[in-house]
Amino acid sequence: MATPRLLYGRRYQQGTNWITAIAMGAFHVGAVAALFYIDAGAMLAALVLYFAAGMLGIGMAYHRLLTHRGYKTYNWVEYFLTWCGTLALEGGPIFWVATHRIHHQKSDREGDPHTPREGTWWAHMGWIIKGQGLHHDADVLGRYVPDLARDPVHVWLSTWHWTSNVVVGLALLAYGGIPYVLWGIFFRTTFGLHCTWLVNSATHIWGSRRFDTRDDSTNNWWVAALSFGEGWHNNHHAHPTSARHGLAWYEIDLNWMGINTLRILGLAWDLKVAKIKQEVPYEENDQPVIEEEEAVA
Ligand SMILES: [Zn+2]
Ligand SMILES: [Zn+2]
Repeated sequence: MATPRLLYGRRYQQGTNWITAIAMGAFHVGAVAALFYIDAGAMLAALVLYFAAGMLGIGMAYHRLLTHRGYKTYNWVEYFLTWCGTLALEGGPIFWVATHRIHHQKSDREGDPHTPREGTWWAHMGWIIKGQGLHHDADVLGRYVPDLARDPVHVWLSTWHWTSNVVVGLALLAYGGIPYVLWGIFFRTTFGLHCTWLVNSATHIWGSRRFDTRDDSTNNWWVAALSFGEGWHNNHHAHPTSARHGLAWYEIDLNWMGINTLRILGLAWDLKVAKIKQEVPYEENDQPVIEEEEAVA
């Protein structure tokens, strides 16, 4: 029998992943329903959870720590931030990191899980709901993420990633009733998912390019604003391991501020930081204009 491989791209992701499709549909319905229950407390809870899931979880943990190892931290910090990431409803860390590492390997070429070259809508949301079983085979996924696959805590968090929203949802229900659940779970996750998906769709289409990378990545301020700094995506593709994506003073990067705050608190070290030397794009085979440093000053 042939060794199973992950084949991403529109051509390979055949069939509908019904569990994901039905869940996505239900969460969108719940998000719209929230708009009929305007409640300041519920909206504040949603805002707090949006920061916890999107910034502490996806930006600072899933992406810059687990995928690219842009900084080092204690295991307990890594596990806590990763748990926050599960709140975003973007799957467990092993699935997310595997998919994203493949995106960097194959950016906008054959095998990229979500390139807008195969359709804007495909890159945004279509790729999530196509591909039977793609998201569930931990053995296959684990080969792309050996570092996490041999860590029992990350394996557990990957298997049980959906439980965090059940726990938080029940707590919200007990505290504030239905409006809190609609805002804190359904609206907040749906809005957050679209913000993350915009990094895959919009920042491979619209925006400016500081670096002449081989992919179509762009820097886009409004995606950065919605995703805590992930929208400085051309900077990121040029220097994937940098814990800092916003490289100019005007490129606000809340995820970087969060990581730098961890450093100041003594909870993070060995931060990899790209710095701009001069604002000109580099030619292939030329010296890059950015230098990587092992720590911030
Ligand atoms: Zn990208
Ligand atoms: Zn990345």
